Amino acid sequence: MQINDLSARIKANEQAITGAIQRVVASGWLVLGPEVKQFESAFAQYLGTEHCISVANGTDAIELALRSFGVGPGDRVATVANASMYTATAAQAIGAQPFFLDVDPDTRNITLIEVERAIAAGVRFVVATHLYGLAAPEILQIAQRCADSGVKLLEDCAQAHGARVDGRMVGTFGDAASFSFYPTKNLGALGDGGAVTTRHADIAERIRRLRQYGWTDKYKVEFAGARNTRLDEMQAAVLSAFLPGLDAGNERRREIAARYNAGIRHPQIQLPVAAGPEYVGHLYVLRSAQRDSLRQHLRAEGIASDIHYPIPDHRQPVFGDLYADVHLPNTERLATEILTLPCYPEMTDAQVDQVVASVNSWRP
Ligand SMILES: *Cc1c(COP(=O)(O)O)cnc(C)c1O
Repeated sequence: MQINDLSARIKANEQAITGAIQRVVASGWLVLGPEVKQFESAFAQYLGTEHCISVANGTDAIELALRSFGVGPGDRVATVANASMYTATAAQAIGAQPFFLDVDPDTRNITLIEVERAIAAGVRFVVATHLYGLAAPEILQIAQRCADSGVKLLEDCAQAHGARVDGRMVGTFGDAASFSFYPTKNLGALGDGGAVTTRHADIAERIRRLRQYGWTDKYKVEFAGARNTRLDEMQAAVLSAFLPGLDAGNERRREIAARYNAGIRHPQIQLPVAAGPEYVGHLYVLRSAQRDSLRQHLRAEGIASDIHYPIPDHRQPVFGDLYADVHLPNTERLATEILTLPCYPEMTDAQVDQVVASVNSWRP
């Protein structure tokens, strides 16, 4: 069994996809045209926010959002270190440095107390990643604390499209939010894609310029630090075809996670927090001190698993010894214990039960 099955999703949506692509081909408009406008407005409406500015991928969305906040060379950007370096990569592209935060061991998410530590250290920019599809439980308090301190907050929602806290979508709590539409995300294109969303018109305007050479008018460059990072019409049309199915897909992911949590019974396994509207099942990640043995057992049973993510950011080889003095005990421990099981909407109950039985038959 695979960890994901994109061909099943494509097959299930073949007509809608073909229709979307044919519409674009017939229109002859390929980049930043009516399909992009249509998707941007539909996605903003889905979230309950004002503006959506699409870009080429989720990492560019983080970078442009940070630039729109005024992040520049030498600035520090607070981020967790267990989300695969995307924020650190975006910060580095600006010449800024990540300021790494530890996570809560149970929710694996950013915490208010760590944000407080960053603010006390003088950090003025925070990225809150809603990891594995679980909304950061303290996002309301974090947003309030940042607003009170004049600290800009970006929510990275690349794994949490459609997760809600108190009836509000993630992405509507901070000053802006970044999304990825990479094919395996809960809302995924048939290629790369991303977006920044915000309720602030000035931030939206800056990002619209930053995504296209810094133009204020055609061929007139007024904005420094700009990029070329656009969503194409084909991907926008495909995303418009997938958006109406996002909530149902999230619901199915939640069902699968609930089936795992109800079925897996093992003294050496700790199950994740994986229920409620706050969770959209992007990844189902359990915990075991003998994770490698479990992974081997599953492989022998023909079941794929993965580790999201094996190397904490502050220990990535690219940094050398730069963060040798930074210690994030929860993050470091989790990296050695986490294991991701298959969890995607096209999985059948029988497949889920097969994974449950294999996990339960593991004898470490
Ligand atoms: C996928 C992902 C990104 C980056 O998105 P790309 O489109 O691959 O650049 C950023 N943050 C998180 C949490 C992600 O999961």
